[in-house]
Amino acid sequence: MSFSTLGLHAELLAVVDTLGYQTPTPIQQAAIPEVLAGHDVMAGAQTGTGKTAAFALPLIQRHLVRAASEKAIRVLVLTPTRELAQQVHQSFVKYSQGLGLNSVVAYGGASINPQIDALNEGCDVLVATPGRLLELATKQLIDLSTVETLVLDEADRMLDMGFIVDIERILKRLPEAHQTLFFSATFNDDVFALSKNILKQPKLIEVAERNATAAKIEQRFYEVDNKRKAGLVAYLIGSKNWHQVLIFTRTKQAVDELATELEKDGISAAAVHGDKSQGARDRGLEEFKTGKVRALVATDVAARGLDIDQLQYVINYELPYNAEDYIHRIGRTGRAGQAGLAVSLVSHKEKYLLQDVEKLTGEHFVLQWMEGFEPNLMAQEESNNARRKPSKKSQRAKALGQGGSNKGKAGRQRRH
Ligand code: AMP
Repeated sequence: MSFSTLGLHAELLAVVDTLGYQTPTPIQQAAIPEVLAGHDVMAGAQTGTGKTAAFALPLIQRHLVRAASEKAIRVLVLTPTRELAQQVHQSFVKYSQGLGLNSVVAYGGASINPQIDALNEGCDVLVATPGRLLELATKQLIDLSTVETLVLDEADRMLDMGFIVDIERILKRLPEAHQTLFFSATFNDDVFALSKNILKQPKLIEVAERNATAAKIEQRFYEVDNKRKAGLVAYLIGSKNWHQVLIFTRTKQAVDELATELEKDGISAAAVHGDKSQGARDRGLEEFKTGKVRALVATDVAARGLDIDQLQYVINYELPYNAEDYIHRIGRTGRAGQAGLAVSLVSHKEKYLLQDVEKLTGEHFVLQWMEGFEPNLMAQEESNNARRKPSKKSQRAKALGQGGSNKGKAGRQRRH
């Protein structure tokens, strides 16, 4: 299968050739003809599958005809984060080089004025996060009535981040007839409900099994006590001489702490999370990409949309509360068919989170021990006993006949 069989014009084929893409990825093979034909599309595809080119290439072709003479927003791409917005915008710029199509990116947390200036210079493709887009629309700085194609990229993440109301408000500003392309790495009831509302007779494209982890990624799980995790991360990176390692933690605090610990162990690390300024985040990413720092430590939200070619190693310093985040995290490695390694550090108390991951992926994982970092089983046993041993309070409640279960209250901490 080559790109020339998908219906792309010579100009686009030349671009693809210049970029060195030889074979279209499965999502590109399936989506490009459908997008060119003007159909709505609902695609299950995660980052690293080549999904951006799967919608950008055919959209550039469809909207190229009028681009030079008639500047109006014809393609609107919504993304959950500014990092993904930047990445998608850069892809549009890359894929439409020399073709006279203008892409503009707009996201919150950065000054609005340069974005307005860029819009005023003429915009065919607008890539934006929902909040900033609404701000521009309500201030009447943009006209969305000319939009012909709406792309929802990482729709599951947008819903996770609570953008549903913003999305609904944006939809009201679009013309009745428009093409909608819906991309999501995972599917749950909320994602289906949104897709049902906004798609018309969509072509369904599923390139990997639903919620399946990307192929070619070796997944390794080490059982290790919490207080030894930082040491194990430093040991893995140092002893195996890993470079460009992306490390996920659950909290911003853990990001900073781990980055500091790694630096102490002589491993250069950049920290990226939502409390950092956009400049600091961009700088961290740049240093990581250019190899100036070996490790990038990030929260799930901050890491969304980071486009780093040939990322080989991902470490889950802690397993995420939301098992779907695990799939997103390890999707950062093994990109576009390259092999990758995802290592997860699992403390005794996190084992239930591993079960959640197993349930979602349908895979069974074996917990390993790393020599020198074996878990302290005595301490685990003590903590199990402490949990099993009824407290004086519950013994008294039982004696008084009030021994009801408290399970609901003590249930797992989930994000939704
Ligand atoms: P995406 O899933 O859109 O984030 O793309 C992941 C990476 O794959 C990007 O760095 C693209 O430049 C690259 N890529 C996209 N399509 C192809 C292709 N057909 N062949 C090789 N690399 C590709």
